[in-house]
Amino acid sequence: MIGGLSWESSAVYYSLMNKLVKEKLGGYHNCKSVMLTVDFAEIELLQRAGDWAKMDELMADAASKLEAAGADVVILCTNTMHLCSEAIRGSISVPFLHIAEATGRAIVKQGAKKVALLGTSFTMEKDFYKTLLKEEFGIETIIPEKGDRDKVHRVIYEELVNGEIKDESRKMYQEVIGKLEAQGAEGVILGCTEIPMLISDKDVNIPTFNTTEIHAAMAVDWATAE
Ligand code: GLU
Repeated sequence: MIGGLSWESSAVYYSLMNKLVKEKLGGYHNCKSVMLTVDFAEIELLQRAGDWAKMDELMADAASKLEAAGADVVILCTNTMHLCSEAIRGSISVPFLHIAEATGRAIVKQGAKKVALLGTSFTMEKDFYKTLLKEEFGIETIIPEKGDRDKVHRVIYEELVNGEIKDESRKMYQEVIGKLEAQGAEGVILGCTEIPMLISDKDVNIPTFNTTEIHAAMAVDWATAE
């Protein structure tokens, strides 16, 4: 697991993966794992500078260290940094389980065709996530208008990655999701691994796709498959 993006959601991944393995295998079982935690302060600066070449290098380096540490499969515990997927895949010989692929499968399973995507501006505005969902699963994604995207992004960086959960931010997210529902979204992808700390199914009218949970479950399924 590449963690630290942010550690708030890495902790959720760690906990979920151990719980899921215990559920599947019972007894004293837990998830055998190695987590390499990067420093989010360094990454956040590079994100703002748009230095994706440097981030490719850092993510590829983290993945190859995990393989060297004995990992049979690598996951990156965040959505945004999947912009570096190609560099990661190029640096390892074990499988890399893409979070958008896990999400696509979950959406198909529910039968939704058109979903809203919330996440950082990078995830909402760049093509990597939406294109994968369209090309591999035929899923159409819609994103909030610019002003709403800025607000959603700001809450992630100023509150959620610092573990701050505020009612007023939840209300704002509910309003944004409500507008997307009115535009025909049949579900909403919580496409940032910290958003599920703020929003869950009970807060909105349409089904939510919790990418943290979906991704962790995919990794556990992979690891426990016969
Ligand atoms: N964890 C977040 C995500 O899933 C945002 C933090 C980051 O920029 O990596 O996109």
